[in-house]
Amino acid sequence: MNTQYAPNSWEGRAMKTVMAGFTDLPTMQERGPIILTHGEGARVFDVHGRSWLDANSGLWNMVAGFDHTGLQDAMVEQTRKFPGYHAFFGRMADTAVELSEKLVEVSPFETGRVFFTNSGSEANDTMVKMLWMMSEVEGTPQRRKIITRINAYHGVTAVASSMTGKPYNSWFGLPLDGFLHADCPHFWRFGLEGETEAEFTARMAANLEEMIVTEGPETIAGFFAEPVMGAGGVIPPSEGYFQAIRPILRKYNIPMIADEVICGFGRTGQLWGSQTYDIQPDAIISSKCLTGGYMPLGAVILGDEMAERMQAASEKIEEFPHGFTASGHPVACAVGLKAIDIIMNEGLLENCQAISPYFMQRLKEFEAHPMVGEARGIGLMGALEVVSDKPTKEPFDGSLSVSERLANACLDNGLICRPLGQAIVLCPPYIFDKALTDEMFDKITLALNDVQAGLGR
Ligand SMILES: *Cc1c(COP(=O)(O)O)cnc(C)c1O
Repeated sequence: MNTQYAPNSWEGRAMKTVMAGFTDLPTMQERGPIILTHGEGARVFDVHGRSWLDANSGLWNMVAGFDHTGLQDAMVEQTRKFPGYHAFFGRMADTAVELSEKLVEVSPFETGRVFFTNSGSEANDTMVKMLWMMSEVEGTPQRRKIITRINAYHGVTAVASSMTGKPYNSWFGLPLDGFLHADCPHFWRFGLEGETEAEFTARMAANLEEMIVTEGPETIAGFFAEPVMGAGGVIPPSEGYFQAIRPILRKYNIPMIADEVICGFGRTGQLWGSQTYDIQPDAIISSKCLTGGYMPLGAVILGDEMAERMQAASEKIEEFPHGFTASGHPVACAVGLKAIDIIMNEGLLENCQAISPYFMQRLKEFEAHPMVGEARGIGLMGALEVVSDKPTKEPFDGSLSVSERLANACLDNGLICRPLGQAIVLCPPYIFDKALTDEMFDKITLALNDVQAGLGR
């Protein structure tokens, strides 16, 4: 490894000392790591002065672009005022109080409570610990199992990895015991021959109920779902999915937790994915766009009932023995307040809603392309899934790495978009206009045609 890059080059230095995560190492060796220095609007620049339009908003989160002065100023001002504090022992920053109030105010809940973390994984991990603690303190210690779904992405801590429904977690000997994975409600991929979408949804719900009954409803602590699966490949639920499973969860008294780390703050076209799909969650997990990606911050937002139960459980043992050193960090919270303000009051959400129909129209046009099996999405998130045979939806041989080739061809054309399974993912920042949307899709067309030619098709 690492013979082709001079030891004193950025590439050579990165390859020698950085332990890269979620990175295909042979591809990085071949193409070199991309070392970025800054961004302007929706574009990022590297150490060699090359630039790319980032169709992925960084990692879903840089929705205001890479140089929003309002967010930068909020960060600098708060840094000057109070650059760091914790939220233990009854002490906390004023901005943590303000952001908690703001989050409850903009949430679907009437009242609620907020717990801050540094990331989405930690927020999911925290929520699971809350559920487990409630079970212990309320005298139902057997109520510990967590249900998520195949293809779900909930993060990378040991608990969040166990919730994530991806095969790579077996390399860690995960999931932990008691983490169950229900069906993935992706009709195009998992619908049976002759099955209608309504029948498929009914089957998803029946299978979930069967899982609950087989495991024992009294052993299940919670059900977590992303409104639209993000890192699973941008998979909107099948028609009526949440309406079908919600009564089942209620019937067995299983809390429904919406992992809104990607969907929250506008991605699906409404403030919350829970609104887009009328999910009525008991709690919400937030991160990513919460600070427009400018600071690390995650949050558990407990709805009325969960907040009361959690508060009562904590009072019974006199504390919630949990917290991160940087939970409720004053600068992260100040940036979060500003991000919510610009999303809701400075036109970002409106722009996301305004550009979405054109984004979806151009996305859907790819279904006519001979290589594209499904063009799916909602709001300002989408995926193009390639197939080797359209009628049978037969995927390409994995060894061809077709989605990686596509993403690399995009990179060569000045566009960042990531491969995911046999799809490429698009989730541009909310500052996108028609011209940038056209630039993005035109570059994808070029890449698709290049790859198609390269495959001899
Ligand atoms: C990214 C993501 C997480 C994990 O967040 P991190 O900040 O990377 O730990 C959890 N849930 C969903 C839905 C995500 O997309």
